[in-house]
Amino acid sequence: MSDFSYGHSRGWIEVIVGSMFSGKTEELIRRLRRAEFARLQIQVFKPIIDNRYSDMAVTSHDLTKIDSLPIQKATEIFTYIKPGTKVVGIDEGQFFEDDLVEVVQGLAAQGVRVIIAGLDTDWQGKPFDPMPTLMAIAESVSKQHAVCVVCGSSASRTQRTAGGDSQVLVGTHDAYEARCRHHFKPEVDQPTLDWKLQREAMVENHLEA
Ligand SMILES: [Zn+2]
Repeated sequence: MSDFSYGHSRGWIEVIVGSMFSGKTEELIRRLRRAEFARLQIQVFKPIIDNRYSDMAVTSHDLTKIDSLPIQKATEIFTYIKPGTKVVGIDEGQFFEDDLVEVVQGLAAQGVRVIIAGLDTDWQGKPFDPMPTLMAIAESVSKQHAVCVVCGSSASRTQRTAGGDSQVLVGTHDAYEARCRHHFKPEVDQPTLDWKLQREAMVENHLEA
């Protein structure tokens, strides 16, 4: 879907969700870059838990980057937001507490365009709070899809293939893969493909997106 717009001066909320490897962060970065081209001041935040590639950047799996500020709690956004910021990007929204909802409502009320990317379901296929609430209150919701590594159809689920049973297990390709509803299992399952094939599936997905 194309970029949502209410005009230049009003705040609103956009949500980008999907499984891992569905291009959520790439889409977040694309929208933020467009805002920068429009000479709007942007700021990007991410939860401190997600330090996979870089401490000060939001980085997608294909290593596209944008500068970001790691924070512990969503309420810190009010501390760090600068005068003149028109667009706030938030990555890995599912790793924040439920108070993220109030924070983004507050930002939108102040005229800020807020774009949040995150997983809509967890490794058991259950709604991953606070994303479901954000999807409900947002003006715009985009569901991204990856490619199922088993059958090649659109993937909406994140299959865990290693690790324990905690909801949060930050990892990259060695612990997760994208699967469709049919091939998803709400338990740790054997990995389907090696890394190279998964990478090719991701690239294919981005070309289609
Ligand atoms: Zn499948």
